[in-house]
Amino acid sequence: MIKLYNTLTRKVEEFKPINDKEVRLYTCGPTVYSFAHIGNLKTYIFEDVLKRVLEYNGYNVKHIMNITDVGHLTSDEDEGEDKLEKSAAKEKKTVLDIVEFYTKHFKEDLEKLNIEFPDRFIKATETIEDQIELIKTLEEKGYTYKTSDGIYFDTSKLPSYGVLWGEKEQTDLISRIEENKEKKHPQDFALWKFSPKDKKRQMEWASPWGIGFPGWHTECVVIAAKALGVPFDIHCGGIDHISVHHTNEIAQAEAAYNSRLANFWMHGEFLVAKDDVKMGKSKGNIITLSDIEDPLSYRYLNLTAHYKSKLAFSKESIEGARISLNKLREKINELDINSEPKSPELKKKYQNQFLDFINNDLDMPKALALTWELLKDDNLSDIEKYELIQDFDKVFGLKLKKEEIKIPEEIINLANEREKARQEKNFKKADELRKLIEEKGYSIKDEETGFVIKK
Ligand code: AMP
Ligand code: ZN
Repeated sequence: MIKLYNTLTRKVEEFKPINDKEVRLYTCGPTVYSFAHIGNLKTYIFEDVLKRVLEYNGYNVKHIMNITDVGHLTSDEDEGEDKLEKSAAKEKKTVLDIVEFYTKHFKEDLEKLNIEFPDRFIKATETIEDQIELIKTLEEKGYTYKTSDGIYFDTSKLPSYGVLWGEKEQTDLISRIEENKEKKHPQDFALWKFSPKDKKRQMEWASPWGIGFPGWHTECVVIAAKALGVPFDIHCGGIDHISVHHTNEIAQAEAAYNSRLANFWMHGEFLVAKDDVKMGKSKGNIITLSDIEDPLSYRYLNLTAHYKSKLAFSKESIEGARISLNKLREKINELDINSEPKSPELKKKYQNQFLDFINNDLDMPKALALTWELLKDDNLSDIEKYELIQDFDKVFGLKLKKEEIKIPEEIINLANEREKARQEKNFKKADELRKLIEEKGYSIKDEETGFVIKK
């Protein structure tokens, strides 16, 4: 049984997919106006661990991620400039160039962190027609109104608006500053924004309401509904998406399709930097993956904390993770994979324990501690330890394979010479050569199929 924390109910619940063996998963992707920082990447690591846990449990995961290439304004609440247009102007490039460059970089970051790619990345701009259709439906059903700068969703028309909110989000709403005087309620959000009259945008489209571009919260509803159907199983993102972005996605689906968008909503806590401050561009405290020597040590660091806990990033914390991961790699390299198994029951016990931890709302810190524990357990043979770690690594994604050791030419030649001496029954010479090989730090073992050299 898999148990997951569902933000929608604020409880840890048993997870069961809608279709028997398939889990449909949607994760909000990046706004590709700049490099992703390692705070953003924390969220993608959490989602990757979730996906791997589902796969470990035998589910086939259908995973979709959007790429925001239009409509995300500098404030998540539809104020300010479009992040993409702003970045293009600053870098003196076209929006398309910006999108291509940062999307490529984002995918490279995912690869470096050994994050599995979704089945599809879908750009917001690929779905403009579908977004217009959704807004038309909302309009027909009476959920929209027009202001001088766009078409807005009237949240007061939807009694269930804000179902995702807990106490914190309710309080945040009360303190939300109203900047757009034409909005009927502070939480109303833009579905379609008109292009400014005095400025030519690079990305704009004709619509029944005038030339403009879609609001940020519409793309995810359309992309998810089209690729996965509604309701689907799990929708994820960072914790900051609860109050606005995901709340507004839910509202549109509820209003347009009379359906819940997803059954489970999961959110990863923030990566915090110095003084417990959230890592973020506006805070001026960002670090990117290229600042980190070994990207997998950042993945390791993420596994040491629960996804629902804040993770503190510092020089010391990443250095600690780097040392631990290297130690783990060393221990794995020392394992003798030609040893004989000795305790299948104990091995099974470790496997069950691992499953209990990961299925308990992704308790990776415990799963990682278990790995260290089994390495120290003398009742397991090396091969059993190695097989367990290979199995666990399907979820850890740390590439914990034994390093292929390259045997130098010289040693191979000595070994061949020894084999020749053995066949000629010159055992004295064969023994001398064996000694020489051992002095050089290698051992040789004769097997039915020939000799094996080990470091
Ligand atoms: P964005 O590209 O701004 O849409 O953000 C991409 C993802 O990163 C979103 O799911 C955010 O919630 C998440 N995110 C942003 N800052 C942080 C942070 N400091 N720690 C963890 N996740 C974050
Ligand atoms: Zn989204």
